[in-house]
Amino acid sequence: MPIRGSHVLVCGAGGFIGGHVVNKLFAEGAASVRAVDLKPFAEWHQKNPAADNRLLDLQLREACLEAAEGIDSVLQLAADMGGMGYIENNKALCMLSVLINTHMLMAAREAGVKRFFYASSACVYNAEKQKNPNVVALKENDVYPALPEDGYGWEKLFSERMCRHFSEDFGLETRVARFHNVYGPMGTWTGGREKAPAAIIRKVLEAKHSGRNEIEIWGDGHQTRSFMYIDDCTRGVVDIFNSDIKQPINLGSSELVTINQLVDIAEEIADVKLKRKYNRSAPIGVNGRNSDNTLIRKLLGWEPSIRLHDGMAKTMAWIEEQMLAGGAAKQFSPQPQRSTIAFAGAKTLLT
Ligand code: NAD
Repeated sequence: MPIRGSHVLVCGAGGFIGGHVVNKLFAEGAASVRAVDLKPFAEWHQKNPAADNRLLDLQLREACLEAAEGIDSVLQLAADMGGMGYIENNKALCMLSVLINTHMLMAAREAGVKRFFYASSACVYNAEKQKNPNVVALKENDVYPALPEDGYGWEKLFSERMCRHFSEDFGLETRVARFHNVYGPMGTWTGGREKAPAAIIRKVLEAKHSGRNEIEIWGDGHQTRSFMYIDDCTRGVVDIFNSDIKQPINLGSSELVTINQLVDIAEEIADVKLKRKYNRSAPIGVNGRNSDNTLIRKLLGWEPSIRLHDGMAKTMAWIEEQMLAGGAAKQFSPQPQRSTIAFAGAKTLLT
C-alpha cells in the first residue's frame, strides 16, 4: 500500500519530524491525513489545516483505536523524547513510550491497517561499538548483541522487535527506520529537549547578539556525530514506507563531524569567533556515532542531498527569526501531564 491514495495516520504530528511528514504526505498524494498528538494545538510545531488534526494521548488503548479508525497506513513517530540532556535524565518517561507503540500496533491490527511505519533511532546500537570518536559507521546488524542507550534506546529496540513479531505472527506489514540525528527549521531549539545542532546554533546566536562572545560546549567537543536535514529525512520516510524493506534500516547522514566542527560551522555562518568553555560533566551520550548507508543506498538509491553547512545555514536563519520575534516562550519543554488529560472516549480532548 503506497502513500499515494492512502488514508494515513501520523502519530506525533505535533512534533518536529511529524509536522514535516504531514506536509510531505500531502505532496505525495495521500488521500487523507489524520494528524494526532498529545500536546495542545498551540504547541504543535506545525498544524496543516488540510489534515484531520486531533488531540489524543496515544499511551491509551482507546485513543489508539480512535486514531486508527478508517486508516490504511500508520506512521508512528510519537515518543517522549529529546536531546541527550533529556533522555539521560528521563529514562522511565522515555521507556513509557512503549505504551504508545504497544497500543498503536494492537489498534492497527484491529483496524485492519495495511502498513505500519515505526520511527526507531540510532540509539538502539550497541554502545560498545561507539566508544571511540574515530567511529566505524554503524551497519544495521551492529545492533546485536544488544546494549542500546539506557532507557530511550532499550524502548526503541523493544518496539522494533514488536513490529517484527506483529508482522511475522499477525501479518501486519511493518517498516522500521533508524533515524540518526535529524535537524532543521521548525525543530525544538530551546527548553531542554533540543538536540546538538539547534542548541549550538542558539548558543552561538545568543553569544553574538549579547556580545558575550563565549559558548559552553557539552563534553570535550571531540565526540562525533552525523546530522540529517529534515527534507532528506521526510523523503527517506516515504521511500522506506513505500518499499519492500522489512528489516530495520538506517536513515541518516554519513557526513561525520566532531561537536567542535559543528560549532566551527555555526560560527562561520553567524560570522563570529567565540571563546569555548567545555562542560565535561554534561551528558554527552556515546563518544562517536555515524550511519553506514550501504544498505539504503543499495536498496533505495537514497543519499542525503543537503550538506551540513547548507542545512545549518537554513536552520540558523529560522532560529534567528524566532529569537528576534521572542519565540522562546512558544517552545515548551514539559510534556502535558497525562493525569490532567481525561480521555474523552469518543472524539478529541483539549485545544
Ligand atoms: P518530537 O518530540 O518533536 O515529536 C514527538 C511528538 O510525540 C511530540 O509532539 C509529542 O507531543 C508526541 N507525543 C509524545 N507522547 C505522546 C502521546 N502519549 N500521545 C500522542 N503524542 C505523543 O520528536 P521528533 O524529533 O519529531 O521525533 C519523532 C520520532 O523520531 C520520535 O519517535 C523519535 O524518537 C524519533 N527520532 C528522532 C530523532 C531526531 O533527531 N529528531 C532521532 C532518532 C529518532
